[in-house]
Amino acid sequence: MAKAQMAIRMTIVRDKANLRRNGLLVYERNRVPRNPHRRMRAPNQVSSMVQRPHRDKDKMRNVCVFCGSSEGRDPAFAEAASALGRLIGEKGMGLIFGGGDIGLMGRVARAAHAQGAKVTGIMPEFLSHLEPPLKKGEALEFTADLQTRKGRMLALADAFIILPGGLGTLDEFFEVVTSAQLGVLAKPIIAINTKGYFDPLRALIDHVVENGFAKPVIKSHCLFAATPQEAMKAITRPPRRGTHEAIPRRRSRPAPPRRKRK
Ligand code: AMP
Repeated sequence: MAKAQMAIRMTIVRDKANLRRNGLLVYERNRVPRNPHRRMRAPNQVSSMVQRPHRDKDKMRNVCVFCGSSEGRDPAFAEAASALGRLIGEKGMGLIFGGGDIGLMGRVARAAHAQGAKVTGIMPEFLSHLEPPLKKGEALEFTADLQTRKGRMLALADAFIILPGGLGTLDEFFEVVTSAQLGVLAKPIIAINTKGYFDPLRALIDHVVENGFAKPVIKSHCLFAATPQEAMKAITRPPRRGTHEAIPRRRSRPAPPRRKRK
């Protein structure tokens, strides 16, 4: 090899070593793993990351509710929120929620507390001025920011129920659904579709799947229930793959063909 060529090669090797040392060179050409994600999927690494509900379904303890800090126009939203809070209390479960005593959030929390549920509010410190925390019977946890709050909610809850709400609620909905999509959250997620409020969201998710930007299995990670009762039933049932239905509708069987009289 000519001297000049040798010198160039030496410089390249030295530069690569420098880059690697500084964490800037991750893969070299011809050494790229076929699927970089497979490296992250070593079972012992992932299983410790995945958040799962309590093993025994009868001991499902905490339900996290995401919903509006407003009441919405239709009184049916407030009724669904109170009904959900009551059901959580009646079933002896705990409620994890955003901590504020306003809008649908406040309704769920007051109703759950009135039925004896342990109510835990998780709130970023800066929000306590904007969203006054519930005073009665609440264990209130303050976090440094919104991200830490979400992390705490994801860790404490055994299931997530979403009631109608605004952009904050949608953000929280997508947080849990995308975590399920990535396989780091394996807990039931059910939206209560009061008065068809979530029809456009459901249609958007179907549209995403139809256009090949998500796999059909995502539908079973975000179920839609018609009522709070249906949502509470659904959190203890395994979802059916590829459907949004929280409780699959029974198809009526076709009537057997009539025998002709002879
Ligand atoms: P909204 O549905 O907009 O009324 O918001 C419902 C709740 O979501 C609010 O009370 C906030 O505590 C929370 N929230 C709002 N924005 C965010 C966000 N970007 N990330 C996480 N939580 C949020």
